[in-house]
Amino acid sequence: MQTTPIRTYRHDVSARPFIVIWEMTQACPLACLHCRAGARPARHPGELTAAEARDLMAQVAEFGPPPPLFVLTGGDPFQRPDLSDLVRHGTRLGLPVAVSPSGTPTLTAGRLAELRQARARAISLSLDGSTAQIHDRFRGVPGVFGWTLDAWQAALQLGLKVQINTTVTGHNLTGLADIAALVQHLGVASWSAFLLVPTGRGALLPALTARQAEDVLNFVYDAGEFVPARTTEAHHFRRVVLQREILRSRGADHVAVLGLGELYLRLRERLGDLGLARRKARRPPANVNAGQGFVFISHLGTVHPSGFLPVAAGSVRTGRLADIYRASPLFTGMRDHGKLTGRCGACEFAPVCGGSRSRAFALSGDPYAEDPWCSYQPGTFPYQADLAAMGLRPAA
Ligand code: SF4
Repeated sequence: MQTTPIRTYRHDVSARPFIVIWEMTQACPLACLHCRAGARPARHPGELTAAEARDLMAQVAEFGPPPPLFVLTGGDPFQRPDLSDLVRHGTRLGLPVAVSPSGTPTLTAGRLAELRQARARAISLSLDGSTAQIHDRFRGVPGVFGWTLDAWQAALQLGLKVQINTTVTGHNLTGLADIAALVQHLGVASWSAFLLVPTGRGALLPALTARQAEDVLNFVYDAGEFVPARTTEAHHFRRVVLQREILRSRGADHVAVLGLGELYLRLRERLGDLGLARRKARRPPANVNAGQGFVFISHLGTVHPSGFLPVAAGSVRTGRLADIYRASPLFTGMRDHGKLTGRCGACEFAPVCGGSRSRAFALSGDPYAEDPWCSYQPGTFPYQADLAAMGLRPAA
């Protein structure tokens, strides 16, 4: 086993983020049940203009090499007529640019070819069910599943990398293995299981319990043998990866030690039944968290540690992004594990996890509170010496 199965970055993440996400518009023709952005049909008159967007990209380039990945999200980025121009401008500045479009009829092979010509590197698409019935109901419009699959295949043919994002809620919990099978069948650069943050319209959806989240994350670990699986807003996946690697090296039964439940056993059985091909190696998860390697800029130009954390540290209209990222109290606080409270504050895994600051804020109003969708009790993992050997301090 390698020293730690968590990916860290050579550069200092307090000086330069790994990824910058810009919500270029909130306009979107879909009405997804979980929408963070609370997307609406029309563009907001206060969106960053094309000139302000070019200035934003210059600000991102000011972080210096290696440049952060610059992701254009929405809403639906295709609702902005200057999308391809802005992608082209970003790539001219040396930024690796990715686009996160909505699955709509405008997501045609021709539009994707324009993005490729503008030298976009990748797209990410949402897939929340392995069938049209499940996915279209969640996305609120019939046909989204088919448009998404068509775009997925067209993007691959054009040489774009594709990331598939799956929002995990009660509606698709038991179908996750079948989504993994579809992901392997069509091919992706990565598949990310997103644990809902109850904000925007997502606040109205039934929440997972912490035990269900534990079962899902252990399933995602298993799925990593077959697809390049990762997570979004599930930072305790990194704790699960460390636990599973140690338990495997010790020959211990992870179901018993981690107290996994019926949901995990069902998902694992279904994954086994699907007969998927194994990957040569796992993809280690990256140690990125809100404000720690990650920054989000809203459609109005406000700067946030995460798109799911509606607390702003400044604006790219009135300040410089690098200054806000490096020195604002909110961003420096997000990178200070000593500020965490509750179980996250006491946890030996905090340096590689830290919990979802967005979910903590959504459910408690305190961005430093414990992540309520994690069930781990600090200090209870039985192989503490193995954690210490990885440089993790004992639980407080
Ligand atoms: S208690 Fe907090 S820091 Fe510890 S594993 Fe859970 S979410 Fe991560």
